[in-house]
Amino acid sequence: MEFIPFGKQCIEEDDVRAAVEACYADFLTTGPRGKIFEKAFADYCDVRYAVAVSSGTAALHLASIGLLNEGDLVLTTANSFVATSNAILYVGAKPIFIDITQDGNIDLDLCEKALQENPNIKALYGVAFSGNMLDQQKLQALRDRYNIIILEDCAHALGAVKDGIVSGSCQNSDVSIFSFHPVKHITTGEGGMITTNSTALYEKLLLLRNHGMDKKGEIAPWYSEMTQLGYNYRLTEFQSALGLSQLHKVEGFLEKRRAIAKRYHDSFDGTNIKALYPYDSSSAYHIFVVRVDFGALSITKKVFFEKMLEKNIGLYVHYIPINQHPFYKELGYLDKDTPMTQRYYEEAVSLPMYPSLSPEEQAYVLDAFWEVYRKSLIA
Ligand SMILES: *Cc1c(COP(=O)(O)O)cnc(C)c1O
Repeated sequence: MEFIPFGKQCIEEDDVRAAVEACYADFLTTGPRGKIFEKAFADYCDVRYAVAVSSGTAALHLASIGLLNEGDLVLTTANSFVATSNAILYVGAKPIFIDITQDGNIDLDLCEKALQENPNIKALYGVAFSGNMLDQQKLQALRDRYNIIILEDCAHALGAVKDGIVSGSCQNSDVSIFSFHPVKHITTGEGGMITTNSTALYEKLLLLRNHGMDKKGEIAPWYSEMTQLGYNYRLTEFQSALGLSQLHKVEGFLEKRRAIAKRYHDSFDGTNIKALYPYDSSSAYHIFVVRVDFGALSITKKVFFEKMLEKNIGLYVHYIPINQHPFYKELGYLDKDTPMTQRYYEEAVSLPMYPSLSPEEQAYVLDAFWEVYRKSLIA
């Protein structure tokens, strides 16, 4: 069996053709394809505006400049990729790590408690972990009661729809961000998208993406002026062409991801291997995480991973809690403040999940997993 990673892109001939064709066009950046990609993405997400940027991290950075001020306190989760809370630090704001619930998402009840105790908290950065959207009713209630800014990190959740609300539609948030890293639902190599319904924020994001420069050609043909400190976070035309081609396939990709999730559930439900939540067709299943009680095994998690690697299967862990990284420890964060996240991290195992994972490969992964598990189970 060829190596099976935990995730990978699905690029087909027509995707490549779209990208190549864009390379022969007059504009390689800041051209029509970017706008078309943004419009299609906004339509797909049922949102007014979409701004394409050079990565999910750039999306988080620009959104944070638009939303936060220096010194702002921001509730967020330690169960994410470091980019989520790094963006809060980029703008001189301060992350506060709130613990998670069983499904791996930030505990919105604990968020409410924190908001009651500290009226100075300005914002909430949540992650739709694994593709499972945040509870939208609770999000709306927090927004109404505490007047906070909300960012949804939807890097895992393109195509998720919960209770009729589309991921990225910003019905109960100010902004959402997406990533087009190769392991995500659609890819542009590197790339990302910001979605919002706010015209003011949208216009600010356009400026920030392009060096803070405005009024191009309005006063004289050569003239544009810089009005704020911006960046070059643009996406190229060939990336946008690739992204658009990929976006057309996202529903098919999601169908395959959900079928794989179902297969995994059929194998694990009713056993000691626990999925994060029951099979849920509203999840976008960016990853499929199971929780394994390694205390019941004669081998460590590391050895378990090594044994799977010997069978050419690349498991992964999403994520090392952010407040456990040396950089964050140095800032004074304590991982003991988020005990559920800690426990989750000890048990979490991400199984291979990507559209081209064939039924034979799925069976191979499950057989290998159960073999390693059963052989090391302490009687
Ligand atoms: C992938 C990811 C990001 C960062 O996206 P990049 O495009 O790699 O910069 C941010 N947040 C989460 C939850 C992610 O999974």
